[in-house]
Amino acid sequence: MGKGKVYLTGAGPGDPKLITLKGLETIKCAEVLIYDRLVAPDLLEYASPDAELVYAGKLPENHTLRQEEINQLLVLHALQGKTVTRLKGGDPFVFGRGGEEAVVLAEHGIEYEIVPGVTSAVAVPAYAGIPVTYRGVASAFSVIAGFENCDKPGTSIDWARYASPGETLIILMGIGNLPSITGNLMAHGRPADTPAALVRWGTYTHQETLFGTLGDIAGKAAAVQFQNPAVIVVGEVVNLHEKIAWFQKGVPAVQI
Ligand code: SAH
Repeated sequence: MGKGKVYLTGAGPGDPKLITLKGLETIKCAEVLIYDRLVAPDLLEYASPDAELVYAGKLPENHTLRQEEINQLLVLHALQGKTVTRLKGGDPFVFGRGGEEAVVLAEHGIEYEIVPGVTSAVAVPAYAGIPVTYRGVASAFSVIAGFENCDKPGTSIDWARYASPGETLIILMGIGNLPSITGNLMAHGRPADTPAALVRWGTYTHQETLFGTLGDIAGKAAAVQFQNPAVIVVGEVVNLHEKIAWFQKGVPAVQI
């Protein structure tokens, strides 16, 4: 039996219509579909009724399948000649360890394709009315891992690099470390009145937002027990949501 093929596919950030056409094709053609926690459940309905669906979701504290087990599954199914789609939230190469999976496949000589996706880092702020860059306000943005996921190495972030007022900071996986993140940014020179936003379940109909400043957002989040999955946005662009907000809670999900 010949070797199969693996697609490392980005599912987009939540709203199921934000998957790419190519991504959808790879769901439809999969004989084995291995999907993560942050993949929109509606997308799984496009899998063939004969496909084997494997949940490989990870929670920060509680790993359903260890990364090594996921890698092994990809390799084993492909070696059995199957078409495997590895469906990951957002873009497969923005955190989430898609790069490591591609390396493992390459090392085993398995054919694979990367199908990029719409990353939550940019799309979730957009659904909260926040453009990550804006002429005259922010000419750069950085996407940072908040390191609360125990998968991530314990290296500390060089916060001094992110003190520039003309840069938007987008922090993923950071809610558990919010007081330390905001404290570090202020300690390195970002003013306490810098606008900040938290966006939970962005792009889903149940999206929630919390707005504040670097100085008060951690307290506000604690008061309402704001939880993951959420994107933290820091920078003057956050204020633009007052003009641009377009996606209100309760907007019906688009059907595909
Ligand atoms: N590859 C993904 C990111 C994986 S890391 C991407 O490109 O989007 C997982 C983190 O992404 C979560 O902890 C959260 O910070 C963020 N995230 C993903 N989907 C999200 C959503 N719909 N709303 C808010 N945050 C989200």
